[in-house]
Amino acid sequence: MTTIIKEQTYLNYINGSWVPSSSNNVYASINPANKQEVVGYVQISSKSDLNEAIANAKKAQVSWSKLSGTARGEYLYKAATIMEERIDEIAKIMTREMGKTFLEAKGETARGVAILRYYAGEGMRKIGDLIPSTDNEALMFTTRVPLGVVGVITPWNFPVAIPVWKIAPALVYGNTVVLKPAQETSVTAIKVMECFHEAGFPKGVVNVVTGSGSVIGQGIIDHPDVNGITFTGSEQIGKRVGQGAFTRGAKYQLEMGGKNPVIVASDADLDLAVEATISGGLRSTGQKCTATSRVIVLNDVYEDFKEKLVSEIKKIRVGNGLESESWMGPCASENQLNTVLSYIKEGIKEGATLLYGGQREEKNGLEQGFYIQPAVFENVKSDMKIAQEEIFGPVLALIKVNNLEEAIEVANDVRFGLSASIFTKNIGNMLSFIQEMDAGLVRINAESAGVELQAPFGGMKQSSSHSREQGQAAIEFFTSIKTVYVKS
Ligand code: NAP
Ligand code: MG
Repeated sequence: MTTIIKEQTYLNYINGSWVPSSSNNVYASINPANKQEVVGYVQISSKSDLNEAIANAKKAQVSWSKLSGTARGEYLYKAATIMEERIDEIAKIMTREMGKTFLEAKGETARGVAILRYYAGEGMRKIGDLIPSTDNEALMFTTRVPLGVVGVITPWNFPVAIPVWKIAPALVYGNTVVLKPAQETSVTAIKVMECFHEAGFPKGVVNVVTGSGSVIGQGIIDHPDVNGITFTGSEQIGKRVGQGAFTRGAKYQLEMGGKNPVIVASDADLDLAVEATISGGLRSTGQKCTATSRVIVLNDVYEDFKEKLVSEIKKIRVGNGLESESWMGPCASENQLNTVLSYIKEGIKEGATLLYGGQREEKNGLEQGFYIQPAVFENVKSDMKIAQEEIFGPVLALIKVNNLEEAIEVANDVRFGLSASIFTKNIGNMLSFIQEMDAGLVRINAESAGVELQAPFGGMKQSSSHSREQGQAAIEFFTSIKTVYVKS
């Protein structure tokens, strides 16, 4: 007799309880390594579910904001311990739901744990300054107050780290939260929420409502009781979030796309530069906002670099992220795979040369997944689409330049400005790069992807609303400054 294992149905988390959506409809979250495999069924929520979550978050915020930062931090410490205990389970769900390798998924979950601990500690830091008044008998100082209810809208590419790096500071500074995760990775988001639930947060302090962006995401944008919205995702949706929030006077923060360059200077350690280009460009199947996508190489080292790069990329094992031999998993969804394939076609049409890869991987049992070989283009001109638009896939565009000045000019010749890196031993090159590169994160002799949780993170130009997340920068978004003047 065969036992049929029915995949679990996951519920919304509202006011401390797991509840079905009012419509009782669900959608299947599938495994991009095998589209036949359902990871779980998730609620298709409606506006009334969202309204319920927001109303409870609003009610809960009154007493939550009265707790000390230290007391709020204690809950985050508990959530961290629980997440740490469940790290393998959560990482496995993440790999099954969005395809990144188990090693990367585990690293990301460990990052989530560290972020929770970091912000738990932040609950004890100073929140204001004493400012001398012109009246010597008056006391003037600043303090900080929470925004109220914060709506958190997140993408699928870091389904643990991004929700956590938004929710943890929101909570520790006294806000309550309603999370709307990306549909592709809602099961992983619910696993994160289970950690908050087990940590015993008071009812209504943290909520998750799954469903579509156009209903639940838009509902968060429009709701008058959502005082702040923190969004990470595409430029197109981000702008919509910003416009909607601005129109009704809510605070907002947007982290959007990137088109991140690496510059390989004439004096670069080429082996190191190759390793970092591969890791920065192709880890997570190129689906990091900080992924390297433009590889700007000085003329005199171009041929050597190219040869080494292609020979290393040929060794990459594409496969199911749960198998330890796989270095690169599938694209996270069929949609994403099709986007990547269409950019590859477009690159060829525009006259770039496809040096390696770019084909769908359908052999060796991979035909049910959204697999693609990493792709390398050369003869790429800066004005081509593949050099201008965010592809969000394992595609590297080699651009040859004559000198460092031209390299920085090309590196800046995009509308994004998230991260950038350079390989050089020359201090003058480094200083020019630090000074002239328009990016929120610049890295020297290190790959473009690589964000540390204790440092501010965010982009310039169209990559961001110019605010910063993470580290101590997070307090700027999640609180308002109140200036206090006291006279006896
Ligand atoms: P996306 O399509 O913009 O979606 C992001 C979130 O917005 C999802 O939860 C989505 O819900 C929701 N959404 C969709 N339509 C909406 C609407 N009308 N109103 C409100 N919310 C709506 O982005 P993605 O494809 O998930 O993620 C990839 C993008 O994220 C890339 O552009 C990448 O660069 C960017 N990213 C940026 C950073 C950074 O820090 N700068 C970090 C990671 C990723 P559904 O899932 O239901 O569509
Ligand atoms: Mg999926």
